[in-house]
Amino acid sequence: MTRLIFLGPPGAGKGTQAHKLAELCKIPHISTGDILRSNVAQKTTLGEQAQSYMDKGELVPDQLILDMVRDRLSIPDALGGWILDGFPRNLPQAVFLDALLLDIQQVCDRAVNLDVPDEVLVARLLLRFRTEGRLDDNEETIRRRLQVYREQTAPLIDYYRDRHQLVSIEGDRSTSEVTEALKQVIGI
Ligand code: AMP
Repeated sequence: MTRLIFLGPPGAGKGTQAHKLAELCKIPHISTGDILRSNVAQKTTLGEQAQSYMDKGELVPDQLILDMVRDRLSIPDALGGWILDGFPRNLPQAVFLDALLLDIQQVCDRAVNLDVPDEVLVARLLLRFRTEGRLDDNEETIRRRLQVYREQTAPLIDYYRDRHQLVSIEGDRSTSEVTEALKQVIGI
């Protein structure tokens, strides 16, 4: 059973790698960013509440995220394992996830940190802006997202290291090299 958290800054390749691994392991890839973007596209109440934060590169308030994650993990396809991508994003979310997992009697195996230098991140995100047209990939928002990452998300690296759950992977390599490294971590 594989249950993984993907940490790492925007542009580190979390989405790409989480998607590939989830397919290999036949488990759901749960990306809070994807769920939010689909809510924005469908103009749900959640999407309307989240959009202005996303456009600015700020974190969406925890109270909107936590129910969303609880609901997603309660869908039966997540009983056989999951990969969380983009959640938790700050300390209160990590504490919430611990309590939720205890409640639903699940254990997370590892938190994977994809390590990529800042200048590579900015270049990758600008490329994604040009190729995929994600509106929050413009230069100003990218800088804000990296700052938010450093202030709010990076402290989770220590949080999971202290609990002996952290694995750091060099992410500035080809997609397939990173996938191979990840497969070794989870033993497939
Ligand atoms: P991502 O696709 O993970 O880069 O997320 C895109 C945007 O969605 C972020 O910049 C945030 O505005 C929002 N978002 C995604 N996941 C979370 C989360 N766990 N907590 C708060 N905001 C989030």
